[in-house]
Amino acid sequence: MSENLNNGTVYSNRKKVNNLKVPKIKEYEKIVGKEAIEKLKELAEFFDGIRLLDLNSTSYGGGVAEMLRSSVPFLNQIGVEDDWKVMKGHDDFFDVTKSIHNLLQGKKHDFTKKMEEIYIASTEENVNDNIIDEEYDIITIHDPQPLGLAKYLKKENQKWLWRCHIDLDVEVFQDNENLRELITNLASHYDAAIFSNVQYIVSSWNLPKFITPPYIDPLSEKNKELKEEYISEVLEKYNIDANKPIILQVSRFDKWKDPIGLISIYKSVKQKEDCQLILVGSMASDDPEGVSVLEDVKEESKHTKDVNILLNLSDLEVNAIQRAATVVVQNSIKEGFGLTVTEALWKGKPVVGRPVGGLTLQIIPDKNGFLIYGAKKRADKIVWLLRNPEKAKIVGNNAKDFVTKRFLMPGRVYDSLLAMKTMPHIPNESIVSFHPWYEL
Ligand code: UDP
Repeated sequence: MSENLNNGTVYSNRKKVNNLKVPKIKEYEKIVGKEAIEKLKELAEFFDGIRLLDLNSTSYGGGVAEMLRSSVPFLNQIGVEDDWKVMKGHDDFFDVTKSIHNLLQGKKHDFTKKMEEIYIASTEENVNDNIIDEEYDIITIHDPQPLGLAKYLKKENQKWLWRCHIDLDVEVFQDNENLRELITNLASHYDAAIFSNVQYIVSSWNLPKFITPPYIDPLSEKNKELKEEYISEVLEKYNIDANKPIILQVSRFDKWKDPIGLISIYKSVKQKEDCQLILVGSMASDDPEGVSVLEDVKEESKHTKDVNILLNLSDLEVNAIQRAATVVVQNSIKEGFGLTVTEALWKGKPVVGRPVGGLTLQIIPDKNGFLIYGAKKRADKIVWLLRNPEKAKIVGNNAKDFVTKRFLMPGRVYDSLLAMKTMPHIPNESIVSFHPWYEL
């Protein structure tokens, strides 16, 4: 059995996280305002002497790692003690957890006893390896991979939160008896759960449920402003023609992101307008399907002109290419939230996608982006955007504004802290929504 790349200790203590270069709080004030930061600092005072831990299953690739990489040092800066640990897993464990992910997103297939055994065995291995080797007061577990740990490790005086980032198909989940029983049993050890959208909530669970969306860090390498010269340098490095409109999708190579569908959309756009397709992707260590999806993408695009597949770029490089893009596409069939969409909107780009999951939380159709069923219609919209740059610009400006008011880290980290502070006082059947998108 081969080992997965995860080693369980990537950012396992505050000192290491503190060594990361992070922007100063003052810089965030300039973006979200002094008042928002003061409000956050006030709430942070409640956590004086309270130790937090975030635990997930990969330190890179994918939205959860992206959020934690910023939020953990950010919280440390405002005086909240928060650590980040990554669970260990063998390849067979991540095969099973990818199946769980697929099932939860609505792909119908069996969840067998054998799969359950592998899941439990890996959970127990992490328990035996003493994954949580320090004292914490509140532990947030992200997604299904480490969900099982609470059953073994929860102490009397601790609070455990499960944060589910998945576009959970509650109907398919309820229909799959084996998986439903396992997840429901494991979730019963938690004090509260956080979901990104009200539709994903398993309402039958007897615990308080909070709703708050994910967020981006506006000052991270992925999202900060860049100089034009740097953007040009990156384009040159990857042989990207700066004078040809760029259609871009940034995503793990995952069937749910439908890159194959995007290639066929691109072929149809290309017949009408000269342009290029860039697929920026990476392999997350907890996603074993990436390699085969990448192979399919290469095969599908091998005879198509001007397709550029770029792997494992640095955050700064991804940022540069997002900023150089003419139209950003998120062709996902299911999407828990879609930080790649948030990142593109933040950069003032017109985004075209399907009206699914987290995309519907981020895009008001025709105002700050486009949500369209039907590949042909998405292709037509891309052509329209290429032909109407001034209209694309208006939509892009709305997009940046929308994200600034709703999906930036300081505000949404506030939500998580508030959930932690209030969860002991919230009745089990309650749903508390921090949805910020109707505020304005
Ligand atoms: N990402 C990246 N490089 C890549 C592909 C993705 O840095 O080659 C980042 C992307 O910028 C985003 C995150 O990974 O921040 C993906 O999060 P999202 O919520 O869109 O999807 P997930 O992978 O969690 O399903």
